[in-house]
Amino acid sequence: MLARSPGRVNLIGDHTDYNDGLALPMAIDLGTSVTFVPDGGDRVVVHSQGRAGPAEVDLEVGLDPHRLRTLEPAWARYVAAVVATVRPDHGGRGWVRSTLPAGAGLSSSAALEVALALALGLRGEPLSVARTCQRAEHAATGVPTGLMDQLTVTASRPGHALLVDFARLTTADVALPEHAEVVVVHSGEARTLEASAYAARRAECEAAARGLGPLGAVDATTAGAVTDPVLRRRARHVASECERVRAVAAAFGAGDLAAAGACMTESHRSLAEDFEVSTPTLDALVGWLVRRPGVLGARLTGAGFGGCVVALTEPGALDPAALPTPAWRVRAAGGARVAAVG
Ligand code: ADP
Ligand code: MG
Repeated sequence: MLARSPGRVNLIGDHTDYNDGLALPMAIDLGTSVTFVPDGGDRVVVHSQGRAGPAEVDLEVGLDPHRLRTLEPAWARYVAAVVATVRPDHGGRGWVRSTLPAGAGLSSSAALEVALALALGLRGEPLSVARTCQRAEHAATGVPTGLMDQLTVTASRPGHALLVDFARLTTADVALPEHAEVVVVHSGEARTLEASAYAARRAECEAAARGLGPLGAVDATTAGAVTDPVLRRRARHVASECERVRAVAAAFGAGDLAAAGACMTESHRSLAEDFEVSTPTLDALVGWLVRRPGVLGARLTGAGFGGCVVALTEPGALDPAALPTPAWRVRAAGGARVAAVG
């Protein structure tokens, strides 16, 4: 079996998925492939190009997070967690190749989980595959991440971003205007604090939601009336971010890229000031990018604390090769696929 999964970049809507809010990510033309050759054995042995390994996993490996998180090499934890959730009935040998940078916020982890799960025989609707892989990610990492990454890499259509409503778990394809260009720029900063800060933000959102209900359904005025100043800012980010997601989807529909870009830059300000998940490096990169001619907007993308910035530009405004840190001009790709080969 040969399975391929794209990575993804989130155009707008960060820290909204676990708040029953909205996001507008797109699958990208960088991704991960897994070739899997079954044998009669009771182990899954996976090699990954350029990485220490292989990852060797017993078919009977359980979903016990404490055991999973002691496995080495560390990437074997994802392999073991996917084997434990997919529960294939035969072992075999797999090979992973990827064009995605790992740990940059382009969902190399979801791409690995989804490609491996499909190669091991998991089938189903995008939402059900995404949920299985989200369970695997939780077990492998201990970080209570939302469903955005897995859903985007399973459910996207070429040429379209994916408007996701996390309260209803519904998706809608939003065509990207022809003249829109999306450039992802690495900040050069690894995402170090991410796991602990992510859990802290999640807890703050839950605290705010105890009084207000799910923050994704709250309007900005209600969020602004929260008494606790920290919880007020967290709620205000989620509420205003969902409004911006709607506004960007509408702006794409109207071909108004300037309006979409302005929402993206405003999203960065909200993530930095109200949600406090930016860093001075990310702020400086966004500030520098939005001053370039033809750059319509830019924001940190993903959970924050390092990683990548996404910019919306006019055609040719940013040359990835001329930027000081790794950068990619990305196209909206389709979701993960699997086929029998050989
Ligand atoms: P992101 O998903 O934003 O790239 P994560 O920290 O969520 O960042 O996931 C990165 C981790 O996923 C890597 O450290 C590695 O363990 C695993 N991973 C991603 N791609 C591969 C690959 N091609 N081969 C092996 N492991 C991978
Ligand atoms: Mg990830």
